[in-house]
Amino acid sequence: THFLGLAEIEDYSSCGMSLRLFLLTLVPTKINLGVGAYRDDEGKPVVLQCVKEAEAKIAGCDFLESVSSAVSSKLVEESVKLVYGKNSDIIKEGRFAGVQALSGTGACRLFAEFQRRFYPESQIYMTDPTWSNHHNIWRDALVPERTFHYYHPDSKGLDFSALLDDVKNAPDGSFFLLHPCAHNPTGVDPTEEQWREISYLFKVKNHFPFFDMAYQGFASGDLDRDARSIQIFVEDGNVIGCAQSFAKNMGLYGHRVGCLNVLCNDAKQAVAIKSQLQQIARAMYSSPPIHGILLVSGILSDPNMKALWVKEVKAMANRIQSLRTTLRKSLEQLSSPLNWEHITNQVGMFCFSGLTPEQVDRLLREFHIYMTLDGRMSMAGVTTGNVSYLANAIHEVTK
Ligand code: PLP
Repeated sequence: THFLGLAEIEDYSSCGMSLRLFLLTLVPTKINLGVGAYRDDEGKPVVLQCVKEAEAKIAGCDFLESVSSAVSSKLVEESVKLVYGKNSDIIKEGRFAGVQALSGTGACRLFAEFQRRFYPESQIYMTDPTWSNHHNIWRDALVPERTFHYYHPDSKGLDFSALLDDVKNAPDGSFFLLHPCAHNPTGVDPTEEQWREISYLFKVKNHFPFFDMAYQGFASGDLDRDARSIQIFVEDGNVIGCAQSFAKNMGLYGHRVGCLNVLCNDAKQAVAIKSQLQQIARAMYSSPPIHGILLVSGILSDPNMKALWVKEVKAMANRIQSLRTTLRKSLEQLSSPLNWEHITNQVGMFCFSGLTPEQVDRLLREFHIYMTLDGRMSMAGVTTGNVSYLANAIHEVTK
């Protein structure tokens, strides 16, 4: 009975009420593995302690009419340190054009528009698969899309040789959309060594890598380590662009705080590119709301609050990692005939489970476990309280 779903319980309608109620206490009512936002071990949204402290600092401040440029410069200044490292020459020399953006989506949208305007003949190469909204964003910016190999369904890992072939075969100077860490939806990231090879090829081919960093810290628990892939490209002399989101790693989804930066040859070019990016933003939404920007820039510029954030990011990543381990172990203990190593090999918030659409449908109907049809599970929705129910249900539909 432990892994009966509610739908099955309904079939027991002839049972006495007390039995139904008893069964209901044995199953978590629903498991939502569809959400792309972090949840705690009770499945609840989390307000980080550093965010509470930042809120307390700005409470009552008379900022509502302030011009956002000074505040947003601070945000950009602090955000780029997370990408390039706080002592990077790029920052010291002002060799980047950075603007605040409406979270990661807005940063991608701004860049896509920039790409179409200044590189009208260009296309964008996306990983196959990628976050579904990437398709919409570049489509609406009228940039033609191509895909390149990334995920291998058999190994449920990286199709590295096919990826390299595609990078080699793309016309020189192509635009590629890369996930620097915690790839969505697959949870599959190249190793550092593989990033080095990819970066080397990009340099040879003069490709432009655009990094969409929506989950910094969620792959390894370490913000710097998760930016390593980008830094490898920079060290190799690649010119890059980068979108950053604070929706997940600061739990600020509703505030829409993000940043877009493009690496430049020198400070003069940075000023020119920044003004173009600002012009694009101005016609789209003028300027972003200031409250979330104040929270993020407040946290990043205060050493104590930043240290607290770093700790909280680590705790979120660790919780997800430990639930990956538990889920895999639980499936193995059930003597599942399948290989579940990918649950722990993949990183970040998502697990590309390999479940078929039919199996996903059975999980929904029989067990009230919800995930996207491609089998992507948001590991943030897994808790110590529901992980064994989930393992049993997955085993039932896959055995
Ligand atoms: N990029 C990727 C890869 C994502 O998975 C997401 C969110 O799901 C985003 C960007 C956008 O995030 P947001 O606009 O909420 O910051």
